Amino acid sequence: MSQLTQFDVLALRREFPILQQEVNGHRLAFLDSAASSQKPRQVIDCLEDYYRRYNANVHRGVYKLSEEATFAFERARGKVARFIGAASPREVIFTRNTTEALNLVAQSWGGANLKPGDRILLTLMEHHSNIVPWQMIAQRTGATLDYLGLDGEGRLVIEELDRKLDERTKLVAVTHQSNVLGTINPVAEIAARAHAVGAVVVVDGAQSVPHMPVDVKALGCDFLAFSGHKMCGPTGIGVLWGRRSLLEAMPPFLGGGSMIKVVELDHSTYADIPTRFEAGTPAIGEAIALGEAIDYLDAIGMDSIFRHEQELTSYALERLADVEGLQLYGPTSPVERGGSLSFTLEHVHPHDVASILDGVGVAVRAGHHCTQPLHRHFNIPATTRASFYIYNLAEEIDRLAVGLEKARKLFM
Ligand code: PMP
Repeated sequence: MSQLTQFDVLALRREFPILQQEVNGHRLAFLDSAASSQKPRQVIDCLEDYYRRYNANVHRGVYKLSEEATFAFERARGKVARFIGAASPREVIFTRNTTEALNLVAQSWGGANLKPGDRILLTLMEHHSNIVPWQMIAQRTGATLDYLGLDGEGRLVIEELDRKLDERTKLVAVTHQSNVLGTINPVAEIAARAHAVGAVVVVDGAQSVPHMPVDVKALGCDFLAFSGHKMCGPTGIGVLWGRRSLLEAMPPFLGGGSMIKVVELDHSTYADIPTRFEAGTPAIGEAIALGEAIDYLDAIGMDSIFRHEQELTSYALERLADVEGLQLYGPTSPVERGGSLSFTLEHVHPHDVASILDGVGVAVRAGHHCTQPLHRHFNIPATTRASFYIYNLAEEIDRLAVGLEKARKLFM
């Protein structure tokens, strides 16, 4: 593998306390960042600082602690807005995670705009959190679902858009990067084509925002959802970005404190965006620490992060090609994909592969990775997945390959 010149990965790894440990007598090789990333000390300290020094509810208090918490919470919203190129922080809604952000769009926008005969277009590579909310709102409104198919390497068959997009299509929801195949989808092209028939475009950015520069203006989408915990931030905090004109016309998703203007006995009026969509006490410290994670990623540079992962992915594609009986799913060209590599190993169950790898300190995931329709498309019940992030090393990919050889020999 070529020398990584963008940033010093060994120095960066020292900033992640969890990576300093041994697992089963081996230095931990954490290859499951697509599920959740590890956190640098800077983010952990930021969260702790909030709870130790200025923990107080936001937006309500007139005392110093509450003002400080409110300032930091709203500053984090501004950081998120800048990070994704949003026109205004008002377009940034804090949610629990990607899943909640997608449910918010489905229930609020979908509930207000979909009717019988309308169509929702998804793709076969979607995570369950970009399928099930659309099934639920389709059942409620009488809309129907359709799916873009995949080619043999797990790329979207874009030509199908000619057939599947027409004036009945009211919404297109697509993942920017597949959590299983690693495929990076041409979202800007899909958005332009969808807009030409008047459809709204929702992008699942759970696997792209942590790994590459993402700018909502360049994507041309209408909504973008992502999770803090996959981008060095805490769990319990996620983001829905939405185009202001659309958000302003949408009804609330959850009702309760904070999201109102006036509450009468039989009805209420609602706050402006983004507060209208943030009922109840938000994850304050977690939002602030997500802002810190963004500072951390920004300091490294999203371009450098993307290049680092592309180098790791190229190396992994070469290295895993040497493992006999290994079938890889997803594009074989590293430029079309990110660093989520799912595979099967002949004669070995994916869970056994993961257990054997755990025995040598290599943490990977096995299962359907919340993509049952995708696995059904490939006619397999499960895969093993290795996924990379800023702190991974080529040496860890070597250990993955050695572990896979071990698994193969054990089950031969
Ligand atoms: N979409 C994709 C592509 C994902 O990878 C994930 C997480 N595995 C999600 C959505 C859901 O994210 P969360 O569980 O944080 O809501």
